[in-house]
Amino acid sequence: MPASQSSSVLVVGAGIVGVAAAWQLAEQGHAVTLVDPALGGDPTEPSGSQAALGILMARVFHRSSGRAWRLRQQSHALWNHWLADLGQRGHQLRRRQGLLLLAASNDDLSKQQRIAADRERLGIPMQLLGPADLARVHPALPGRPLGALFSPEDSQLDPGPVMDAMHAEARKAGVEYVAERALRIERQRPWRLILASGRPLEAPWLVLALGMGTAPLLEGIGLPLHLEPVLGQALELELAADPNWQWPGAVVWQGVNLVPRPDLHPGGRRLWLGATLEPGMQGSPEALDHLRHLGGDAPEWLEQATVVRSWSGLRCHPQGRPAPVLEEPEPGLLVASGHYRNGVLLAPATAAWLCERIGGAPPARYPPGEPAP
Ligand SMILES: Cc1cc2nc3c(=O)[nH]c(=O)nc-3n(C[C@H](O)[C@H](O)[C@H](O)COP(=O)(O)OP(=O)(O)OC[C@H]3O[C@@H](n4cnc5c(N)ncnc54)[C@H](O)[C@@H]3O)c2cc1C
Repeated sequence: MPASQSSSVLVVGAGIVGVAAAWQLAEQGHAVTLVDPALGGDPTEPSGSQAALGILMARVFHRSSGRAWRLRQQSHALWNHWLADLGQRGHQLRRRQGLLLLAASNDDLSKQQRIAADRERLGIPMQLLGPADLARVHPALPGRPLGALFSPEDSQLDPGPVMDAMHAEARKAGVEYVAERALRIERQRPWRLILASGRPLEAPWLVLALGMGTAPLLEGIGLPLHLEPVLGQALELELAADPNWQWPGAVVWQGVNLVPRPDLHPGGRRLWLGATLEPGMQGSPEALDHLRHLGGDAPEWLEQATVVRSWSGLRCHPQGRPAPVLEEPEPGLLVASGHYRNGVLLAPATAAWLCERIGGAPPARYPPGEPAP
């Protein structure tokens, strides 16, 4: 619905969080400018969104209350709505339903039992499986799982095509694209963003969705935000023979996702495996090797597979506070960063928060002590 009084908004960072926000804000009638050097094919640093496996783990969560739970459920509902909406606009986006979480220990088993009982109370479908059920699944599952939790409403999608669709719709909705690096913010009225070329851009609303790039911009105006990079490496494998996938969706084994990708190549033998969790910007060969062999738990068919592609990206982990960081530290300055391991899942709830925050009115006080423009 168009905003009653549209604002102009600068969205800095065009990962999945930034492009989703730009698209939704433009659809609300705001005049949006999206800034990122990667829009011109020049990534400043390995972005999380380009590396993500796209697991949407909303329904399986250790809690069923609080902010994190609410953001997950809101995103779950919005992803259903967004994918249907994008489909109606001609973007055929594939979504693979179902997540099977394997239990490697008795501790895992009791956590899964607690989650299943809690979700039953909430009317959310979830199924506990025993070792005999799992032994029938083909191809053989990794390790020797003691049991599993199957969540039919959780899913996986490919972030790349989804972001392409959002970009197409954002352009149609009038988003202006600026393929430049943001250098610094100036606390002006309205907010001023200085680009690497020296060109200033101004708007009453400034959205910082730069992942790891958010902290340096905030520091420049004396607002420290502690974000730690956590690198993730991932692999695409070609299996030696057609596995005739009968898995009920992606499989999660001790935090590693195994995503069947029969659609990627004729013969249906591709699989995505990821991702490592490595604090810092540098990936280690040891961590990649551990991933490749699932720490010794890979079944024979997986051991025999060939690596056809590897990639990595940075997750942005807020220090000393929960992910993500969604806040307005000063009127008109909105931080939407630090989504850590769930930025793909949480992009819709983040966009919804920004749309609600910006609404149809200018920032409440702007800057502190001065009247609104
Ligand atoms: C290997 C891996 C697997 C993952 N798997 C999943 C998953 O299965 N499910 C899930 O939900 N999440 C997953 N994640 C996490 C997810 O990818 C991130 O949480 C999400 O991508 C964060 O998106 P973002 O838009 O905030 O940041 P990013 O994608 O990092 O985008 C930030 C953007 O800001 C731009 N930028 C940086 N500096 C500047 C500057 N100075 N000026 C202008 N632009 C700038 C960059 O070019 C970049 O495009 C995974 C992450 C990794 C690394």
